[in-house]
Amino acid sequence: MTLQELEAVALGCGLKRFVGKQLADWLYKKQVSSFDAMTNISVDARQALAVRYEIGRHPYLTQAVSADGTKKFLFQVEMNGTPQFVETVYIPTDDHATLCISTQAGCRMGCRFCMTGTLGFHGNLSAADMLNQILTFPDLTNIVVMGEGEPMDNIQPVMRMTEIMCAEYGCGWSPHRITVSTVGVGEGLERFLKESECNLAISLHNPFSVERAESMPAEKLRSIEKVLSLVRQYDFRHQRRLSFEYILWHGKNDTLRHARELVRLLRPFAPQCRLNLIRFHSGVNHAFPATDEQSMQWFEEYMQNNGIVTTIRRSRGEDILAACGMLANSLKSEM
Ligand code: SF4
Repeated sequence: MTLQELEAVALGCGLKRFVGKQLADWLYKKQVSSFDAMTNISVDARQALAVRYEIGRHPYLTQAVSADGTKKFLFQVEMNGTPQFVETVYIPTDDHATLCISTQAGCRMGCRFCMTGTLGFHGNLSAADMLNQILTFPDLTNIVVMGEGEPMDNIQPVMRMTEIMCAEYGCGWSPHRITVSTVGVGEGLERFLKESECNLAISLHNPFSVERAESMPAEKLRSIEKVLSLVRQYDFRHQRRLSFEYILWHGKNDTLRHARELVRLLRPFAPQCRLNLIRFHSGVNHAFPATDEQSMQWFEEYMQNNGIVTTIRRSRGEDILAACGMLANSLKSEM
């Protein structure tokens, strides 16, 4: 809940408006998980609140730990009374701890290379479901909204979550520590571009519309050309960052023809944008063979030489099916 909503909760329970601010402090700054812990609120008031509301914090059910330190967690979420499951990935480095959160149970977008896409769609997560994933890990430095689901297809709760994370009354994060990823669909993207200061990552994966549509059916809803011309209307020259994600597949999108067209598409965004090349895990789907290391480096150099800031992203958590495109609730079997 936002501060305004928490104040309304306080008033609705016959308490003073300022109790709303105290609730926000306990929920988002001190991050307690019971009304009993809110010691500057009277016992009677805490009881009145507990009768009508719950905090919404739930522990994860299971976890898997990768040899590289990446951890994957399974959370249960309620969808109209039916339990569903989503995965969250914690990625530590020397000086950062990034959490990759899910925004939907499954996904409607059906990208053919993605294991989440094969789950189908089982429902939208609430902002509380997303915050529960985040607040479970108190040492985070960054959040990437790149887990299960298409965030722009569930934009209202995603915007609410980012508001609470960044508000002064909330967790007080800079929006530049949060990156939201999209294939580019829906009015959600327009709203995000207009209203959010968070970073944007666009899953591009193929510069040719017909070929992109073969692996990403969402291309038919809004072509990559249209996504890019929409994004071009907004200013990314300052702190808000724009990046493009590009998984490389052998023969499918790693040729000179693809590289040339990608440069043409991305040149208007250079030098502010960044291109992230991602290694694929062909174990997942043999129709999408991984590009070899040499071609990957050639692709990176070609893009760099043509003025596009490009990096090869380190792949994390492959051994526990936690890497890009691999989230499919495999931990459920361990419950
Ligand atoms: S890649 Fe993202 S948008 Fe595509 S099916 Fe997977 S989760 Fe959905």
